[in-house]
Amino acid sequence: MHELSVTQSMMDLVLQYADGHPVTVINLKLGEMASVVAESVELYFEYLSKGTPAEGARLNWEIVPMEMTCRACGEKAELQEWAGERPQLIVASVLERGCRCGSHDLRVTDGTGFAVASLEIEG
Ligand SMILES: [Zn+2]
Repeated sequence: MHELSVTQSMMDLVLQYADGHPVTVINLKLGEMASVVAESVELYFEYLSKGTPAEGARLNWEIVPMEMTCRACGEKAELQEWAGERPQLIVASVLERGCRCGSHDLRVTDGTGFAVASLEIEG
């Protein structure tokens, strides 16, 4: 249900930008931490785009990795050691370990969004 409204908003934006021209590719940025399932967006898109200039367009996904930043010193946390783990577990681990400066006040600063990056339009 969540993805339906997300896909509807995406479609509104795409059709507005395309201004009636056929859309061939939609480049999307999806954060690793975003609560959006790409497969669901693909399904809703196929359904919602029928009969619009975006029908048949390919969705091109760029996955934006999670980033965590220390609020005390501004340093970005090293996340490589948890590569492949669930993002929730990474956040918990980083908060528990804390920053090199001793602070445990870290925030997720990237990798949570979902956005249309660009469009490829025919003609
Ligand atoms: Zn720090």
